[in-house]
Amino acid sequence: MPELPEVETVRRTLKNFIIGKKIFDIQVHYDKIVEGDSHQFIETLKGQTIRDIDRVGKYLIFILDKDAFISHLRMEGKYNLTDAFKPLNKHEHVNFIFSDHSEMRYQDTRKFGRLKLASKDSYRLDLPLSKLGPEPWNADVEQIYQSIHKSRLPIKTLLLDQTILAGIGNIYANEICFRTKINPTTPGNRISRKRIAELVDISSQILSEAIKQGGTTIHSFDSNGISGLFQVNLQVHQQKNCPACQGTIIKKMINGRGSYYCPHCQKKRS
Ligand SMILES: [Zn+2]
Repeated sequence: MPELPEVETVRRTLKNFIIGKKIFDIQVHYDKIVEGDSHQFIETLKGQTIRDIDRVGKYLIFILDKDAFISHLRMEGKYNLTDAFKPLNKHEHVNFIFSDHSEMRYQDTRKFGRLKLASKDSYRLDLPLSKLGPEPWNADVEQIYQSIHKSRLPIKTLLLDQTILAGIGNIYANEICFRTKINPTTPGNRISRKRIAELVDISSQILSEAIKQGGTTIHSFDSNGISGLFQVNLQVHQQKNCPACQGTIIKKMINGRGSYYCPHCQKKRS
């Protein structure tokens, strides 16, 4: 699943190719990808030029002359950039045709991703973006502490709650717990202010490092599409042995998500 750093990489990569391009037409091949009326989506955006791409949490916001649209890649979404002559593949569901005959195609094998019209001026204040918490580098530790401290849910689950902190997905939540030596099953109300400050700090560091790596590993887009996925240096997620103590890493489902941790380095504190 694309996480914040991958979505940021997609944003930066797409910006290099589509800023200034005018949308000549849009074809929607699978209606549910577009939230609301897909005909309205098409008619509103046709004729407008893409001016910028913003990102809030894991959402991309395409900003045009008069309107905007939001894109969430969910599990498998990605963008393919191609020329008009390449036949559509069966997973390309929305096709943005530019006036220079190039195309941006939204591909999604699992069809969970969504596109939605938005206001260019107030998209941050409207749903769904208005519900998002701050990204870790903008977070106020006291505010995050208050949100986490009142919950008995496992810290791993709280890190994934986008209304508390935006942009942390399953892989990075595992890595953040490992780097802060917090057991992912620890209830939120058992974690001190000091530890929350560490968590926010490490979250910020890990996501920033991943963005840096992503920015240097995406060299081409035409073979695999722009998914932003790249090899990050994972210490615990899907690993067998702990890089710190060489002990066995445990996999446990926490709230339905595969969680990896070292029971020796991430002891549960009472
Ligand atoms: Zn260990």
